[in-house]
Amino acid sequence: MQATVKAIAINAFLSQNEDFRTLAEHTDLLGTYGAFVSDVIGKLGKYGSLSEAQVNAVRNSVQRTHDFAAKRAVQDADTTPRPQAAGVYRDDSGVYRVVKSRQSGNLYAKKLNLKTGGFDYASGAIYRLRETHRLTLEQAKAIGQETGICIVCGAFLTDPKSVERGIGPVCAKRV
Ligand SMILES: [Zn+2]
Repeated sequence: MQATVKAIAINAFLSQNEDFRTLAEHTDLLGTYGAFVSDVIGKLGKYGSLSEAQVNAVRNSVQRTHDFAAKRAVQDADTTPRPQAAGVYRDDSGVYRVVKSRQSGNLYAKKLNLKTGGFDYASGAIYRLRETHRLTLEQAKAIGQETGICIVCGAFLTDPKSVERGIGPVCAKRV
């Protein structure tokens, strides 16, 4: 396409899609939005226009980047200490066992599955949990009494004494 014709096409496109103006005029910022957005904006420069599908995909991608950044900002602003040690934690979304990875030494969280009595790896949960979510032994026992599951190891409590206490004898020492 001839340079002038292309410039006219790009201008027409940008006046129809004002939100693309910043992206098109500040290509140094495109890295923030990832390779896909950079690639599509490159196509705008090359062909003078974009399809509706490309426009929508770029908008979604930019929106996701902004949402993610906003979420990160909220998380970073929260200075409540993260879990410092293995143990049992609870927040609005459930009961978690925080354990230390034998390989990396990092803490990660497993969520109590009330159906199976097991703990399922909960991706990302370790970043939401806070030290303030840590359960005391008494709180752990209360959940055990309520659910019939030892929330330290996930075992169903069968021994009458354990049922009453809400926790297995070995696990009482591990909260
Ligand atoms: Zn147990």
